Amino acid sequence: MARARGERRFYKPLCRWLVRRGYYCGQQTSTYWGKIKWFTDRGTKAQRVDVAGVRSIGTNCADEMEIVAVEVRSKGLIRTRDLSDAQDFRQFAHLAYLAAPVKFPDRVVRAAEERKVGLIQISRGKRPRFEEALRAPKMEPESRTRMLEFLKSLEVFQCTLCQCFFPIWTRLNVEIPRSGKSFSELKRTKLSSILNKRLDPFEIVDKGLIVGSDLRISRYICPLCAADLTRILQKQLRLPVPHKVKA
Ligand SMILES: [Zn+2]
Repeated sequence: MARARGERRFYKPLCRWLVRRGYYCGQQTSTYWGKIKWFTDRGTKAQRVDVAGVRSIGTNCADEMEIVAVEVRSKGLIRTRDLSDAQDFRQFAHLAYLAAPVKFPDRVVRAAEERKVGLIQISRGKRPRFEEALRAPKMEPESRTRMLEFLKSLEVFQCTLCQCFFPIWTRLNVEIPRSGKSFSELKRTKLSSILNKRLDPFEIVDKGLIVGSDLRISRYICPLCAADLTRILQKQLRLPVPHKVKA
């Protein structure tokens, strides 16, 4: 396989660095060939994140995720644009960083501070090393919708029922094939979006009409809820036990 070039050669080592700092970067996901699908080059078409990590920061009452997103540069010269790109990550991430193989000059550190962006210094060498030159302030993402969208690109979903976050690769049952996915995806008509479309919401629900993809939403149920639902349904659907006929 060709060796990663340019900034991409820093992606995997940076993932491992984040893992050592307590983040999950896709270690449990793997391709058919058994290679780890690291959290690199993820996000939407319009906005890609070079390297990302997540960790659970919830309590017993609420499950919450913390997202760190890193913009990686292979060049030593840092432009304002590079910092803006990292700053944009704050729409969906709690921590945004710019990583580059450079000792960041004071003007860059000041500009990064203003933009609430952290800096990671990369030391070149046979094995690149990373050092946090400026700690990113932890902030709530600007948009929770964007946050959930980004998590989806990492194959992490929030359960509609219990609100816990879970990776779609969670496998509770070894019978689920390696290439399979254990999450349950439900397609729903986005009822609010048909208000102006002369469609009768009740008709859609009653007849189970299929609407266009722009009118649909997806909902996810974690494997634990899926198992519990199955158990509840089985219990409710059980037919009454017939009386024994006396001999
Ligand atoms: Zn659940």
